[in-house]
Amino acid sequence: MRYSRMLIPTLKEDPTEAEVVSHKLMLRAGMIRKLAAGIYSYLPLAKRTFNKVEQIIREEMNRAGAQEVTLPSVQPSDIWQESGRWDIYGKELLRFKDRNDRDFCLGPTHEEVITDLVRREIKSYRQLPLILYQIQTKFRDEIRPRFGLMRGREFTMKDAYSFDIDEGGAEESYNRMFQAYNRIFERCGLEFRAAEADSGAIGGSFSHEFMVMADSGESAIVSCYSCNYAANVEKAEARHSNLTFQEKESALPKEVQKVHTPDRKTVEDVTGFLKVNPKDLVKTLVYETDKGAVAVLVRGDHEINEVKLKNLLGCNYLNLAQDEIIREITHAPIGFAGPVGLRTKIVADNAVSEMSNFITGGNEKDIHLINVNIRDFKVDIFADLRIVTKDDPCPRCNGKLRFSRGIEVGHVFKLGTKYSEALGATFLDAHGKEQLIVMGCYGIGVGRTVAAAIEQNHDDNGILFPIPIAPFRILILPVNMNQKEVKDASEDIYLSLSERGYDVLFDDREESPGIKFKDADLIGIPIRLTISSRTLKNGMMELKLRKTGEVIMVKKEDVVAEVGRRLNGE
Ligand code: ATP
Ligand code: MG
Repeated sequence: MRYSRMLIPTLKEDPTEAEVVSHKLMLRAGMIRKLAAGIYSYLPLAKRTFNKVEQIIREEMNRAGAQEVTLPSVQPSDIWQESGRWDIYGKELLRFKDRNDRDFCLGPTHEEVITDLVRREIKSYRQLPLILYQIQTKFRDEIRPRFGLMRGREFTMKDAYSFDIDEGGAEESYNRMFQAYNRIFERCGLEFRAAEADSGAIGGSFSHEFMVMADSGESAIVSCYSCNYAANVEKAEARHSNLTFQEKESALPKEVQKVHTPDRKTVEDVTGFLKVNPKDLVKTLVYETDKGAVAVLVRGDHEINEVKLKNLLGCNYLNLAQDEIIREITHAPIGFAGPVGLRTKIVADNAVSEMSNFITGGNEKDIHLINVNIRDFKVDIFADLRIVTKDDPCPRCNGKLRFSRGIEVGHVFKLGTKYSEALGATFLDAHGKEQLIVMGCYGIGVGRTVAAAIEQNHDDNGILFPIPIAPFRILILPVNMNQKEVKDASEDIYLSLSERGYDVLFDDREESPGIKFKDADLIGIPIRLTISSRTLKNGMMELKLRKTGEVIMVKKEDVVAEVGRRLNGE
């Protein structure tokens, strides 16, 4: 393509509306323009990159045996009523009426539509398993659309849905999609991890979020330096028991004693006052849930993981208790709660079970207890209830854990029979018996993937596109189009490279070299060929790699072969 014919409206200045690098650079590189909050037009450069990402997704979905469809984005309320989500989805669902006053919404996701299709078309176990996918526009009226394509309201998603006859089949489909996702993000040239995510009621590891590693990411992730374990912080497991047998044995239980701790309420206050380590104290936090109040115990230097707590208790609602409730339960002012003598359900983190002679609140004003042991109160359940720390080892291999940030670009999730049950999607098994279809769902944000790629690959001057998803692979930059020999040589090489089937952008503009070089860096085409009277004097062209900054001079006649080698990563 000739640059002079393309719409690439680059900007010199950073737009003030953009907070994160990818948003800034996509605006500056003339890739996107905003129409309304969270709603963007994709200009030619962006569209080319989108097409490449979508092509990779398509190839891998097809390779995994999934079939492409397109489902309507305008969806009638009936199926959402059937699934029960019409009432619980809230304001993220954009609703409207047609001329006959019937309720509709713009699809934020397609479980309802696809389950409706499948319940009508699938009758027998012989038609299963089935995986269907689409690449399509979604609309979610996000409360805080921000960061450009990262969290838009209108965005492109690849969503896939699997249908199986049983759990085993569903797990196989899940693994198939999991492998496909790994291949997709690898082929996009991204550094990523598949992080175990909370799957709420569904047990096991059947929810993974694919995270592109980037400091600006919204998600906190834990990964292992030694093995491929990775998880969201909320899901990351604490490995049970770091104590040796001797360490446990050496601490013989002593007698409980009351100590006066005037106005010392926080862990820091109490441990500072008693000159002990926070590790020697057990914190007691009271929660209110839809299943009643519960006291939760964790070591003084640990934090409660409310997601784990919620899953353990199987409750829908969970909040730290109001002051009055704490006073009612502990008969003491806030800051002195403890498990001894407490008549509430008590759950404790596993780490507490390894402690002896610890400190707790005394359920009495200005009183703490020392030398408390598990024998002094009754724990209903011990479980992993805390957020992992830097001191925790990898739960799989005992290796060292890394804490970092990531951008969720994809999500694979086992749905089970939630939607097939609600909408009545069944099949007849080999014995003629009616069974529920077991489902899974699998999403990738196309725009978010592009934005994440830029978050991970940029420098002060612009984007450093990974080769597979760059809008063009090669940029030809004649320093001066007015010089005949430069122009002719540039046209020649443009022709040769195009004939080879490479996507080449030819900067044929009569702009100053300064502007051309600046734009080249900004839009981040991986290979730049610079041609000037100076390089041509020696029969050469300059080849520069945007990502590494490596520059080499190549003989004119060797350029096509050299470019080919570079594109193959040699
Ligand atoms: P988030 O927690 O970021 O809101 P989600 O859990 O709502 O994401 P899913 O419903 O699993 O996301 O959607 C699948 C994929 O769609 C996500 O992994 C992400 O890449 C993309 N996605 C979701 N919401 C948006 C959005 N508002 N803008 C752009 N991409 C999005
Ligand atoms: Mg969301």
